[in-house]
Amino acid sequence: MEIKKGIPVSPGVAICPAVVISADDVRVPRRVIAPDQLQQEHDRVEAAFEKAREDVRDQLAHVEQQLGPEPAKIFGFHLGMLQDPALVQQVHGVVDDDKVNAEFAVASVMRGIAQSFLQQDNPLFKERVSDVYDLEKRVLMHMLGDVKAGLGKLESEAAIVAHDLTPSQTASMDRSKFRALAIDLGGRTSHTAIVARALGIPAVVGLENASESVNTGDTVIVDGHRGLLIVDPDPHQLEEYYAYLEKFRSIESSLDELATLPAVTTDGTQIELVANIEFPDEIPDALARGSEGVGLYRTEYLFLSTEHAPDENEQYEAFREAVELLDGKPLTIRTLDLGADKYTQAMLREPEPNPFLGCRSIRLCLQDLAMFKTHLRAILRASVHGPVKVMFPLVTNMMELRQARMILNDVMEDLEEDGIEYNREIKVGMMIEVPSAALMSNVFAQEVDFFSIGTNDLIQYTLAVDRGNEKVANLYSSAHPAVLSLIKDVIRAAKRKKIDVTCCGEMAGELEYVMLLVGMGLRKLSMTPQAIPEIKKLIRSVSIKQCERVARRAASYDSERQVLNYLRDATRNAIPEVFDGRSVV
Ligand code: PEP
Ligand code: MG
Repeated sequence: MEIKKGIPVSPGVAICPAVVISADDVRVPRRVIAPDQLQQEHDRVEAAFEKAREDVRDQLAHVEQQLGPEPAKIFGFHLGMLQDPALVQQVHGVVDDDKVNAEFAVASVMRGIAQSFLQQDNPLFKERVSDVYDLEKRVLMHMLGDVKAGLGKLESEAAIVAHDLTPSQTASMDRSKFRALAIDLGGRTSHTAIVARALGIPAVVGLENASESVNTGDTVIVDGHRGLLIVDPDPHQLEEYYAYLEKFRSIESSLDELATLPAVTTDGTQIELVANIEFPDEIPDALARGSEGVGLYRTEYLFLSTEHAPDENEQYEAFREAVELLDGKPLTIRTLDLGADKYTQAMLREPEPNPFLGCRSIRLCLQDLAMFKTHLRAILRASVHGPVKVMFPLVTNMMELRQARMILNDVMEDLEEDGIEYNREIKVGMMIEVPSAALMSNVFAQEVDFFSIGTNDLIQYTLAVDRGNEKVANLYSSAHPAVLSLIKDVIRAAKRKKIDVTCCGEMAGELEYVMLLVGMGLRKLSMTPQAIPEIKKLIRSVSIKQCERVARRAASYDSERQVLNYLRDATRNAIPEVFDGRSVV
């Protein structure tokens, strides 16, 4: 048994077999193998090579049939290597000599060959280096689980253990089988963590090098409360966790009973709870949990889950589906928030040196007007089917907002010319995700219909802490007095100008921050659907006066630790059974 500690990012516990995912730059686990288990590793080598040969034979036949013998030659080279007995023998030799696992032996032999090819003067060898890496991946794929196919179609229920996952990999996962996530990299608001929460599965990130000590097929416990990955748990541990799961489920089902009740404080103030979604098919579950609409639809996931950029009609269909599923409840569509860790870097020849400060989000849209206009057209077309609002992410200055609005107007005119219907009165809002926008919120409030505070980014840009970097995760805090002060300013500016304001960062769905946000004046919170029942329970247990007291007291502290400790105590006092019941094993 081995216990690894990481950062808990999505609550719950899963006990199931692991599927270890190799990243594109495959980090292969190295494990020392006991002498009596070496044969098992030799068998794994043979099986993986045989499966890889079958793949290549299939591909060769397919390419030959479709494109003729010349392009198929490259697969002839691949097959020749895979069938070379000397190569396979070399791998077996490493297993025996170094007493290591099969995948590590494959990687070290193949990488050795690639290096020796690189050192040859003959350019033909150099050209073959990428083929050798390709073959390495192909063989490893049958040992570690494939990066793409493996995620798209898991054979049975599994916990995904990986060094890192791109948002696209997470988005393309087989959601029916995937039970938990344990990742070496990442922080609380990294996009992988957000998707895990959306799927309602336990997740732990920031496990450093845990993926190296897990094999596909090992039983693991992923504890999304305490941030633990337990590999090969002992019977005592299993028993303890099964008992905990039972308790957890009973709390969940008691919360489910609240779904149809309003989120109203004990002194009668209604708080609107809406959902953050990445895919329209999350909507039925969000409604079942008591969501009153969608406050943040992360449309970029449309681009992350398919091989090609979706065209206007595909986007329109997705938006229309969301509107129809909501059946009259409001839908806030955020325009494409691509860039940074989402989508674009992999397509660039030269990745940006600081992608989170680079061409992301509204900046990217304003540089690619064709893509932006297509996107806005699809949103506007969907706006005739129900109460749709549109909002722009990552606005940092007035020019960006005005430009974005101007393009929206252009698209409206185009639609009119084409005789296509849309809602002319569509509400237009912006996210407050950077300090410059928060500091200028009184000015921005004159030019939009609503604000949505995106604390995930607001925190990272205010505190200069990468939201996805586990090495600085301890510095990333929603409770930082500077963050609270910016949020307060934004709410005040919105109230003065009488525009709507909501919070759609992860903070809004975290129990300990709800009394604070409500006490600061928010009456609408948008969160991962999983969180709605417990947040509603809390709101129904407290008064506005109590929340205002909490907000005042929190503002008097000068360190995030004091703020957080105070907020935790206040929340525990309000709903001890939920606060403690969900976090203690
Ligand atoms: C945010 O930054 O708070 C937000 C909601 O947007 P995202 O998490 O998609 O960046
Ligand atoms: Mg954001």
